[in-house]
Amino acid sequence: MALTVINPATEETIARLDEAGVEETDEAVGRAREAFPAWRTVTPTDRARLLRRLATLVEEHAEELARIESHNVGKPISGARAEVAMVAQVFHFYAGAVDKHHGETIPVAGGVDMTFREPLGVVGLIVPWNFPLNISSWKLGPALACGNTVVLKPAELTPLSALRLAELVLESGIPEGVVNVVVGPGRVVGQRLVEHPDVAKIGFTGSTEVGRGVMQGAAGTIKRVTLELGGKSANLVFADADLERAATAAPYAVFDNAGQDCCARSRILVERSAYDRFAALLIEATRKVRVGNPEDDATEMGPLISAQHRETVASFVDGDALFRGQTPTGRGFWFPCTIVEASNDDRVAREEVFGPVAALIPFTDEDEAIRIANDTPYGLSGSIWTENGGRALRVARALETGVLSINSNSSVRPTTPFGGFKQSGFGRELGLHALEGYSEVKNVFVSTE
Ligand code: NDP
Repeated sequence: MALTVINPATEETIARLDEAGVEETDEAVGRAREAFPAWRTVTPTDRARLLRRLATLVEEHAEELARIESHNVGKPISGARAEVAMVAQVFHFYAGAVDKHHGETIPVAGGVDMTFREPLGVVGLIVPWNFPLNISSWKLGPALACGNTVVLKPAELTPLSALRLAELVLESGIPEGVVNVVVGPGRVVGQRLVEHPDVAKIGFTGSTEVGRGVMQGAAGTIKRVTLELGGKSANLVFADADLERAATAAPYAVFDNAGQDCCARSRILVERSAYDRFAALLIEATRKVRVGNPEDDATEMGPLISAQHRETVASFVDGDALFRGQTPTGRGFWFPCTIVEASNDDRVAREEVFGPVAALIPFTDEDEAIRIANDTPYGLSGSIWTENGGRALRVARALETGVLSINSNSSVRPTTPFGGFKQSGFGRELGLHALEGYSEVKNVFVSTE
């Protein structure tokens, strides 16, 4: 079957590809399996050198990769450039980690006990369309560093950057078969990877609904799984915060990547005594978000990924909005920055919108803020805005979420762990923690008696 890839900002076809099915997936798994014995025994120094070379190639092709990503996802070129820069940093980080992830010796009676870190084998990496290259690198970096071989399945909507990356992988000197990219539908290629007996682990990022299926499918072969799923994160603004700073930052915590961000702090919780002032500041700041042509250096928000997704996002805004921004007219899947007033029981506050829609919710005191923030099945990210250091840490400890920032929107860095609580998934990506998910601990006892 042929797959048509389009630019969501123009609706133009930018590529036509052959779609893989079960047979091609099995072939890719076979190639990865064949490449595994040699790859796992590459010395740590050489493996690090190859990953470092890949990082450098990403840097050398940064503009090209950013343009591919911007055209395919419709994301502003400035954001795409930042993402590609992070991809290179991620590969640099895991190049540096290769020879620092090792076992230990444990005091025992009658001998010497030691642990080894062993690769898992062939790992299947399934990624979504919102940050295709970035999220691929979060999985590829630790998987390759630990000595695994890989089958990467990008989302059908956005396969182009993964295909270009696969070429750079070969150029880096990483042997053929170590990284394989298969482009095809999730329910066919993804599901086959999940069920394939020769795949040892699935690293999955995507929706909670599909993640649940991945977990079920993996049960058949007791596969390891890492699940990075949806979110409905809270941005808690206390009255003692620097309100202008919080309001200036808040739009970017929801409208970045047109809201198609698992970390979006799409529930903005504001202390009642500061609510009116904050709402006015938020509207003023949101009005300034530059929505338009993703190729323009100044653009801050592009279109949504597809017409179908725009319909889903629109279904969340059925009544009056507190604010609705402007969008370009004509072709492209545009949706305006939108702020609605809500209660935490409303659908817009309970479900992941995955679009530029912020729900503004008042709270009375710290206890209620924590209660509302935690009243969600998700637990991925969040922010706390306050000038009271004790409160910041008290609230941070009380929130059921994997990644938090205080007086900031920041969620991901190559060096720090990222992942969810509750139905946002489990396992950690990035930082040294990710290496745990791509290796097994083997314990060996040697008798000295
Ligand atoms: P989906 O869950 O629909 O898809 C994610 C990936 O899974 C795609 O590659 C898709 O392939 C594939 N897939 C679909 N069905 C199956 C299946 N039955 N078996 C195996 N794989 C399958 O998510 P979206 O692409 O719509 O991405 C948006 C979601 O991702 C949001 O919920 C968001 O929160 C989440 N996300 C989470 C992040 C995190 O780190 N926690 C980061 C970014 C996004 P295809 O599309 O080709 O059919």
